Amino acid sequence: MGDRLGGSRGLILVLTDSEQDWFCRNLKILYPDRVHTLDITTREYDLETLRPYDYVLTFIRDGKNVEKIRYNVLDRYAAEGHSVVMCLYEYARRKSLRFNKEYTGKLRPMIEILVENDVTKGFKRSDRVYWYGNVGGGVDDPESDQLLQRQILDLEESETVRVLARSTVNGGAVFIEEKVGDGRIIAMDLISPNEAVSWDFKGSANKYVFLGNILGGTVRYGKYYQRKLSYDEFVEAMKSLCEKYVHLWLEDEGASSDGSKIYSINAGDRSKPLFLFVGCLHGWEWENSYGLLTLAEYIGSHPEDERIKLKEFFIKIIPIANPYGYKNNTRQNANGVDLNRNFDFKWEEYKVQHPPQDVVQPWDYDWKGESPASEAETKILQRIIDSHEIACVVDFHSASSTAFAKPKRPDDAVLNLVYGEIVRNLKDRYIRALWGTEGKHVQLSIDHFGPLSDAPEMVNYASKKGLSFLIETVGNRDETHGTVMHTDMVVEICLATLKVIGEEVLRRKKGGC
Ligand SMILES: [Zn+2]
Repeated sequence: MGDRLGGSRGLILVLTDSEQDWFCRNLKILYPDRVHTLDITTREYDLETLRPYDYVLTFIRDGKNVEKIRYNVLDRYAAEGHSVVMCLYEYARRKSLRFNKEYTGKLRPMIEILVENDVTKGFKRSDRVYWYGNVGGGVDDPESDQLLQRQILDLEESETVRVLARSTVNGGAVFIEEKVGDGRIIAMDLISPNEAVSWDFKGSANKYVFLGNILGGTVRYGKYYQRKLSYDEFVEAMKSLCEKYVHLWLEDEGASSDGSKIYSINAGDRSKPLFLFVGCLHGWEWENSYGLLTLAEYIGSHPEDERIKLKEFFIKIIPIANPYGYKNNTRQNANGVDLNRNFDFKWEEYKVQHPPQDVVQPWDYDWKGESPASEAETKILQRIIDSHEIACVVDFHSASSTAFAKPKRPDDAVLNLVYGEIVRNLKDRYIRALWGTEGKHVQLSIDHFGPLSDAPEMVNYASKKGLSFLIETVGNRDETHGTVMHTDMVVEICLATLKVIGEEVLRRKKGGC
């Protein structure tokens, strides 16, 4: 089975009647060079055929082909210590169980997690996660479609068989784990969620996450949040982390434009160079805040991680820099100002531009405010940047694609190294449909890497003092269903930054003395 960091490069064999199915194609995109398919309608196979592979999946589109599955061979293969993954219908036929396709009309079915193990990593017991497909098979829109989910009904659990996740519609088993000798057979509904695997398609957003946990460590730090917390609840979550972990402390950074306080979670040595991680400066881009909360939890619980040098640096995390925007799902703050166009960096030159406007005013998409740093939130962030030696400032945003944007500075070669580290760490983890490309799928990574324009943005302001960059993650701005992928990506980016820039700063200091 896969090692701790998902470094498993074991081979995967898919026994199928549909080698050209999007499922097989997407699996090959997710795990290049690891996935082989075998058409069970035309080819024979036995235990010797399976033995070179670390994982065997069965994926049958046409139910009558289930007869071609050699269950006794799969049982013997599993018993030797391997993992076999089956779709529910195939598993039901193996044990003569009651298979069910449940149509729910406009209701979005979910699964409820019952067991926390390597398969459900990233999720907690009792978490509820969307899991469904649609009859039309196209856009994930209950308004114009009917939804469905597959289950096995009346499954009896035993010493060797347990249900990992069940349907919230009727309690039917949707993920099952059965011990077989030294290995196991895992059955899951991989047919219902359609293959438009996208952060804004709720039913299929996590389709490959559980499977990826089995095949090779998809989730490392990521964490599912059942729902978007209210601002007060979020602050409570920050406080309880700081109470729980001795290395973390909370600071009140001051009042924002709507009067609510902005808080930071802090770690390390205040007199040392600062890593500042900021989220939700644009209020509707709130998902990264949960990644920063997860980062704080990781730092609190893993202070010994050598990438986090608490004796050498000061780490300040501001998950929500724009409380009004977070609460009201707006881009701007309470005064209608786009905070990331309000910084004291070439402010006079900046023209409101998106979309082109006849007259400009508050609540325009990128209204820059009445004067440089006119806003309370901007003042707070500029004060923090001004009052520390800067190791790096990272500002998290979300859009329909991912990006790493760096201010124009001569000495940013180290940012190229950070980018390389991020791309390496995200490899073979998550798959997603590219926005606006009719189902073209890619691995989650950084789509765009390059210079930032000279707008009055926070990271441009910070670049006067030190290294900084801006990240875009894909975001949906309505629900938390994609937060495992989001939080994982945010934590990976922050840890890569702490590692690469931390080492570089210390190396320069040594060299300079
Ligand atoms: Zn933004």
